[in-house]
Amino acid sequence: MQWYQADLHIHSCLSPCGDLSASPRMIADYAADTGIDLIALTDHNSSLNCPSFAYHAQSRNFQALFGMEATCAEEAHCLCIFGTLATAMDFSQFAERHLPKVQNDPERAGDQVWVDIHENIEGSYPYYLPNALDLGLSDLCTEVHRRDGLFIPAHIDRNAMSLLSQLGRVPFGNWDALEQLHIFTPNEQLMSDWPAPRTHGNKLPPAALEALTEILINQKLMCSPHWTDAIGAGACVLPSMIASSDAHEPHWIGQRRTLFWAETPSFEGLRQALHQGYALAAWSTEKFKF
Ligand SMILES: [Zn+2]
Ligand SMILES: [Zn+2]
Repeated sequence: MQWYQADLHIHSCLSPCGDLSASPRMIADYAADTGIDLIALTDHNSSLNCPSFAYHAQSRNFQALFGMEATCAEEAHCLCIFGTLATAMDFSQFAERHLPKVQNDPERAGDQVWVDIHENIEGSYPYYLPNALDLGLSDLCTEVHRRDGLFIPAHIDRNAMSLLSQLGRVPFGNWDALEQLHIFTPNEQLMSDWPAPRTHGNKLPPAALEALTEILINQKLMCSPHWTDAIGAGACVLPSMIASSDAHEPHWIGQRRTLFWAETPSFEGLRQALHQGYALAAWSTEKFKF
């Protein structure tokens, strides 16, 4: 087993907030250069750019995952990530049926275009994509799990469009992990619904801890004190906390990332690591402006 690195939250030109230069090809090019092992494309409420992303990821020989950053009815963002393109596209069609039909105004909100593998625009999505789907948090999670996907509430500590901003806490649930934006240890108020203690008996082998120290130094990464506190207390912590770039421009990729201890840098390897507490949030001290 070894440590792998993932960036599980990236926007392309399909998201109105995403830069027009953020084509799937550009994202794949940039991701291939960062040394990150596993990249997920997660536009707002749609996976229409994932087919092109799949092609370019394969041609650059790195592992891609597919999905979206869905907005649940409570107006919190949630990462919905799938191991295959086919399931992501199936879920994308499902989400489309639950999106309010409010016209997008590209001048005001930004473009929402999807492209083919040659970066030709295939279409401009007519309805404003980041709107809330008419699906509650729990229902959305159930639909993702029904398709064998990972459900991860996004940037839970952000002051907008997060569980914290919308609900004031992180409700207990069947989430596969939680994404944190800032380097912090979740306080008791944020996690008040969760049974204590949140640590459990899994331990990482000493070799994993040694290898981690080396990676953090060599790659100029800082990991979350939430995780080091738990490991210091002798156990892994659940739910796993991840970090991701939430890149709106390709050069943001990898500024925040997730390290996970697994057999392979695959969807299954990631899932097992998340469920065992073998994953941690990390920040690039080079790329990230603290
Ligand atoms: Zn978001
Ligand atoms: Zn996002």
